[in-house]
Amino acid sequence: MKVAIVGAGICGLYLGWKLAERGEEVTVFEKKEKIGKEVCSGLFSERILEFIPESEKLIQNQIESALIHWGPAFGWEGGGRVGVPKRTLKVKFSKKFFVINHFELDRLAASLAEKSGAKIVLNYNVTRKDFVTFQGEFDRIIGCDGAISVVRKNLRLNDPKFYLGIQGFILNPQPKFGGGENFVKLGQRTMGLSGKFREGKKA
Ligand SMILES: Cc1cc2nc3c(=O)[nH]c(=O)nc-3n(C[C@H](O)[C@H](O)[C@H](O)COP(=O)(O)OP(=O)(O)OC[C@H]3O[C@@H](n4cnc5c(N)ncnc54)[C@H](O)[C@@H]3O)c2cc1C
Repeated sequence: MKVAIVGAGICGLYLGWKLAERGEEVTVFEKKEKIGKEVCSGLFSERILEFIPESEKLIQNQIESALIHWGPAFGWEGGGRVGVPKRTLKVKFSKKFFVINHFELDRLAASLAEKSGAKIVLNYNVTRKDFVTFQGEFDRIIGCDGAISVVRKNLRLNDPKFYLGIQGFILNPQPKFGGGENFVKLGQRTMGLSGKFREGKKA
């Protein structure tokens, strides 16, 4: 079966790998010029190792619990307001979470997909027009194109509800944030919750 996958993020690459292993003729189209989610490490449940055992070598830290601080005056150390939380809850996870370099994880999945025979085409922004030609060329078109999905639009499906997320990095974290911390810190903010975890040299 000829399969077109739109998007070479972790979903498209993993699927491309597994379908190619099964003997399908897979082409993954990616609009960016290179594979790999930019500037991002992520928290992954330990189940990642069931799906991509090779990802073990990409683990940067292991998270075992979360400290949830409650109280309107609570802020970040090292900048802005710092207050004493009214209450702090410690939640110990029954499963481990790993901090994994997302850039390298995507690249690993790409190499596994290619080794199994999947073709990855970079710099190819799949548009609505491509859907017409793709329908003649492929038996299946699969959308793995993330939150702003052109595939979803073509299928006239509703957009999901989006939430605002802001990501930042602390370079040279202060000593009290250094040294192999194995928990996520969560704090109450006006707009919701903010969280931080240790990535390696950064936080
Ligand atoms: C700030 C932030 C923090 C996050 N932290 C975590 C975390 O800690 N742990 C976690 O598990 N998840 C986290 N996530 C979510 C994580 O990014 C997603 O779960 C994961 O990357 C989704 O993978 P995906 O393959 O579905 O989509 P994406 O990674 O978004 O990949 C989609 C790919 O499709 C490509 N594409 C899009 N449109 C087209 C097109 N028309 N033609 C060709 N290519 C196209 C894009 O360029 C992209 O490469 C976070 C997300 C954000 C924004």
